[in-house]
Amino acid sequence: MPTLCVRFECLNKITNKNLSFYCFPKARKNVAFLLAQRKLWINALHRSDVTDKQLHHIQICSLHFKMGL
Ligand SMILES: [Zn+2]
Repeated sequence: MPTLCVRFECLNKITNKNLSFYCFPKARKNVAFLLAQRKLWINALHRSDVTDKQLHHIQICSLHFKMGL
């Protein structure tokens, strides 16, 4: 189980109850929206060492999302 946010230089732990943690969108064939969304998330990581297989087990904290309206 991951203990840290996967984003480059982020040290937020998954045990931090003041944050939310999100799994990456699943890559499903023929669902263009999910594939595009997943690609955006991967680009936002600013990391080149994360493999596609690892994306099933990692999470990103809520600090890296802009809030909507
Ligand atoms: Zn983070």
